[in-house]
Amino acid sequence: MSMSAQEADRGIRILKERLDACDAVLVGAGAGLSAAAGLSYFDGEAFRKYYPDMYRLGWHYPYELVGRRDDEWTRGRKWAYWATHIHYVRDVFPAAELYRKLLRVLDGHDWFVVTSNCDRQFFRNGFPMERVFEYQGNYDNMGCSAHCTTHTWDDHDALQRVLANIDHETFECREEGIPKCPYCGADAEICFRGEDWQQNADRYVRFLEQARDRKLLLIELGVGYNTPGVIRWPFENIAAEFPDAFLVRVNTGYVQYPDRTGFPQVPGSLAGKAAAIDMDAAAVIGALEARA
Ligand SMILES: [Zn+2]
Repeated sequence: MSMSAQEADRGIRILKERLDACDAVLVGAGAGLSAAAGLSYFDGEAFRKYYPDMYRLGWHYPYELVGRRDDEWTRGRKWAYWATHIHYVRDVFPAAELYRKLLRVLDGHDWFVVTSNCDRQFFRNGFPMERVFEYQGNYDNMGCSAHCTTHTWDDHDALQRVLANIDHETFECREEGIPKCPYCGADAEICFRGEDWQQNADRYVRFLEQARDRKLLLIELGVGYNTPGVIRWPFENIAAEFPDAFLVRVNTGYVQYPDRTGFPQVPGSLAGKAAAIDMDAAAVIGALEARA
């Protein structure tokens, strides 16, 4: 067994012991969890297959489109993109077995999940959603772009109409396919944080309040530096502030940093309150399930 394999094995042993001994588990799930399940925003092959118009127009992988400025595109292009992207993530990519394994690992514990993922894998894999907080919302909600109402509604039918109205020459949704607000007739918009977001945020806060003085295990799965303020930094703060909390950070180095600095490490100030496992989430969840 190589040195790093020994370290990984030791990390998993620590995680399993902590899991058996804790009173509560808080899982933080980032893009790395879905990537470990096969849903990667850097997947060029899937992009060629499922975003063919966009590939033809010169893009290469889904993440290339994240954070692009809306005003560079027409409404028609914007809708064509959202419908294509969400259709792939939500309807084409299957519910991933890795998430069901995670649910089995958590079974019997008092657990809660906070995730930055919008892909609905927790929902699709049967997690009780009153124990899952999608911090950045999800792809299922649509709202009014003119904000005539705070109501949000399911976007499946509207996005199917967009898909059916894409002009594949221009990669624009035709005017008749553009989703509208049913109340005022303005354009609709994808509304990541649906109207139940605050209620779900409150559940997360209540879980944290109740876990404050308990033996709390924080398990971070595939959380990087894309939006570290959502999970990574709060988890470090919780590990530091709660008297009996322990953080296990599961992550691999990032492909863009060949020396593998950055992702798995925990700050030195958390010595004795945190451990890092330099492995991907699939390997760790698989090992935990095998040792259950
Ligand atoms: Zn409206």
